[in-house]
Amino acid sequence: MIEMRQVEKYYGAFHALKSIDLTVTKGEKIVLCGPSGSGKSTLIRCINHLETIKSGEIVVAGHRLNDSQKAVDAVRQTVGMVFQQFNLFPHRTVLENCILAPMRVRKLSRADAEATARKYLERVRIGDQANKYPAQLSGGQQQRVAIARALCMEPKAMLFDEPTSALDPEMVKEVLDTMVSLAQDGMTMICVTHEMGFAHQVADRVIFMADGRILEENVPSIFFKSPQHERTRAFLGEIL
Ligand code: ATP
Ligand code: MG
Repeated sequence: MIEMRQVEKYYGAFHALKSIDLTVTKGEKIVLCGPSGSGKSTLIRCINHLETIKSGEIVVAGHRLNDSQKAVDAVRQTVGMVFQQFNLFPHRTVLENCILAPMRVRKLSRADAEATARKYLERVRIGDQANKYPAQLSGGQQQRVAIARALCMEPKAMLFDEPTSALDPEMVKEVLDTMVSLAQDGMTMICVTHEMGFAHQVADRVIFMADGRILEENVPSIFFKSPQHERTRAFLGEIL
């Protein structure tokens, strides 16, 4: 579903991703962790071409990135992304936030787009808030709208970049519960998060990055119990 081969990414002279090899199969759930600045956001932003790479290859659902705008558009339709800052359109209602891209990109009629939006807003248990504006919702509710909005594009995979780290603690659970339920439905997911309970519960693999490299990866039961690298042990020591 998602393949990165020998990916190198630079910001100017700064080498942000170093020979990244990552294969995510359909239905697989990956948790990506690592210290600040290790390249986690950069890695997932490369997958939907929010960043361009220097060399290597990224193929998403059969679309090879870097060769055409068409491939980029196809990948962005295939892969939904949820950010730390919810990035909702502030002057649009919840429902409008959810129907704009499906109407523009998927060419759905307004009626079909609304039906889809209502389905996914129900799915994240926020159907009753459809006519509110983002600022009238709590952080947890806004993040669930952001998830619903991404789902309205019927993506084949979802990328999450620290979706709970801007939330007040009491709202973290409702967003994690939504992600767990998505995982249980079989969604392919890459989640940057330091929520290790979530990692234990849903991850097929936990990947640890440091200095732009994937340093180690394993199933959660082994990753947490017997990390191989000193860097991983130090990191886990800090966050657990
Ligand atoms: P955090 O946990 O703080 O979110 P991260 O692992 O997501 O960190 P990235 O945001 O991917 O890290 O950044 C990796 C490195 O690339 C950092 O050193 C960062 O300063 C640098 N970097 C990120 N974006 C840019 C940019 N637009 N221009 C220059 N350098 C950047
Ligand atoms: Mg980041």
